[in-house]
Amino acid sequence: MTLFGSSGIRGIVNRRITPEFAVRIGSAIGTLHEKTIIGYDTRTSNIMMSSAIISGILSAGADVYNAGILTTPALAYATRRFDCGIMVTASHNPPQYNGIKLWNPTGMAFTRNQEEQIETMLEKGNVRKAEWDEIGGLFPYENANGEHMEFIKKRVGRLSLKVVVDCGSGPASFSTPYLFREMGCRVYTINSHPDGHFPGRDPEPVEENLGALKSAVLHHEADLGIAHDGDADRMVAVDDMGNYVGGDALLLLFTKYVAKKRIVVPVDSSMALEEYGKEVIRTRIGDAFISQEMHRQNADFGGEPSGTWIFSDGTLCPDGPYAAAILAKMIEKKGSLSQMIGGLKRYPIIRGKIDYDPCKRDAIQNRIWKTLESEKGADVSKIDGIRLDYGDSWAVVRFSGTEPKIRITVEAKNRRTLAALYKKMQKIVLLCTHSR
Ligand code: MG
Repeated sequence: MTLFGSSGIRGIVNRRITPEFAVRIGSAIGTLHEKTIIGYDTRTSNIMMSSAIISGILSAGADVYNAGILTTPALAYATRRFDCGIMVTASHNPPQYNGIKLWNPTGMAFTRNQEEQIETMLEKGNVRKAEWDEIGGLFPYENANGEHMEFIKKRVGRLSLKVVVDCGSGPASFSTPYLFREMGCRVYTINSHPDGHFPGRDPEPVEENLGALKSAVLHHEADLGIAHDGDADRMVAVDDMGNYVGGDALLLLFTKYVAKKRIVVPVDSSMALEEYGKEVIRTRIGDAFISQEMHRQNADFGGEPSGTWIFSDGTLCPDGPYAAAILAKMIEKKGSLSQMIGGLKRYPIIRGKIDYDPCKRDAIQNRIWKTLESEKGADVSKIDGIRLDYGDSWAVVRFSGTEPKIRITVEAKNRRTLAALYKKMQKIVLLCTHSR
């Protein structure tokens, strides 16, 4: 039984993600861990889901501390005082989704082995049922957001920029704007009132959702715009000219200015990374794989083009507010964000996705893999999905771990090759998803 995707357990509320299911997950966690902390983002189903998980934990005779609404990185930071951390969030997914993500005291997400242990326990019904006088206790855990902000302020210091923050109506509403203000910035906010209906914008911080942020940066003549996803483990930016600065550009920027020796990135990130004098290690896509590999390789920075940034002097959890503060510090020291971006050596990238019928996944995957593996003139790697490397260009085709989509990423040193390569990959995927 596989419950966990590439980023915990995720699905539509009261379909796949039900309170009954949450009680079972809670009872497995309570059987394994004495003292757990739980928190949640701003989704409408969070009290329902967290209450059920808490019930399960208590029934196994373990204690649980409720941190309330907070960002995923703040929950991961607080988990260092506990045996286990639980974040109830569906990250950037639409409002009808929710999910459960589990954390170790290092701030590292549960490994596949740990997830398998829980799957086996649930399959076999191997969970503890405490006697009436051994039921666990529920306690409040206050100020987890505040502790996380104090940590960031200590690491980054004072700032004096003008910043617009777009929290996407998520839990960052309680942290990032206050963080920047306390550090000395002039702060303007949009979508910074917690609301699980996400009235202002979709919780995924991609360019088409950030029109209001771009306008606000220009209107206020700000130095920087910051946008988070639904649980603020991600961060992307808008520069002082009102241009979107997505994960691909930020990954190069952090690699150039913040990383020291060794970085960990996923297989679908730019080949320009190799040109910044740091050792580049490539691994599977998904923040849990990045942080595990950082831990193994003793890397000081890890990041993904989706906007997840991990700094080894913090926790091993991607940290949107911390990344935002580090980016602001960089601007204060080195000059405007638009100039820094203009000075980066980079190549054009296209990222696209194609829907498929999840019931036919195995057959579709076999067809795509077979076609791509026989591709001439390319080095084929299977770290995650299929990566074809042609020297001056590459393509990655993979199945998303969080939604029924096939993702295609291509990068090339010139635009003509880029367009042709993307078209070719798109054609292969479309043919394989629609043939019988
Ligand atoms: Mg997230």
